[in-house]
Amino acid sequence: MRVLSGGGRRGAAIRGVLGAIGQGLEFACSAIADLCLPRSCAQCQRLGSLSRGSWCGPCRESLARIAPPLCPGCGRPFPDSSTSSDHLCGDCLVTGFHFDSARSAVIHTGTVRTRVHQFKFGGQLKWTPCLVELLEEAYGQWGIAVPDLIVPVPLHIKRLRQRGFNQAGVLAGELGRKIKTPVSVCALFRKNVTQPQTSLKRGERLKNVKGAFEIADSGKVRGRRILLIDDVFTTGTTLSECARVLKKRGGAGEVHALTVTRALPD
Ligand SMILES: [Zn+2]
Ligand SMILES: [Zn+2]
Repeated sequence: MRVLSGGGRRGAAIRGVLGAIGQGLEFACSAIADLCLPRSCAQCQRLGSLSRGSWCGPCRESLARIAPPLCPGCGRPFPDSSTSSDHLCGDCLVTGFHFDSARSAVIHTGTVRTRVHQFKFGGQLKWTPCLVELLEEAYGQWGIAVPDLIVPVPLHIKRLRQRGFNQAGVLAGELGRKIKTPVSVCALFRKNVTQPQTSLKRGERLKNVKGAFEIADSGKVRGRRILLIDDVFTTGTTLSECARVLKKRGGAGEVHALTVTRALPD
């Protein structure tokens, strides 16, 4: 191990202080900029381009929104479908899901995909408004009855400590504030640390999440219409397992799932 000399220690201490001052200044400048400068578009980043929300007009138009024809059950879009009408997808017909219905705002691609990654894995919470805006828009177009309670897909406490926040919890909290619906971040919890789902196939994902969730307070969910929130719908297995536990163990009346993006199978 290299032992610092007196001068080396002083140098390291000065660098540490300068680093802390630099970070403090960066934070202060960013906070001042947020207050004083017009906000920039979440996609093109042009300052002063916003008339409303987080996306400028052209970027808002360019988003890969999920539109009919789609599966009325899980909301899977059929962009290349030869028929123009909605129809159940293979997953809904064969194995089905435990949620009553699901919808996502946009396809998991392009800038929104990048923003979701930056938000979730990079801790860039500044992207929360642009993602919640998409959730709120999809919720508004869905036409389901008003939920009694919003519940985010929970993270295991170990992952929560590593990441510092639950991305689904942040989205759920902000959506709840916008649509004036109560949110419970502790009605459902994750009792097992599961392998990340990204590398697994659907069957493996089902096995991976089976028994991973439990109800903390069934009084909060019994007989209620629940809106379950997550950032990405990939195969729907996590959302389906949460819905199963909310219904079977918690006695929830209905569970509908809403995510910002939907990953399409290759
Ligand atoms: Zn833009
Ligand atoms: Zn479906």
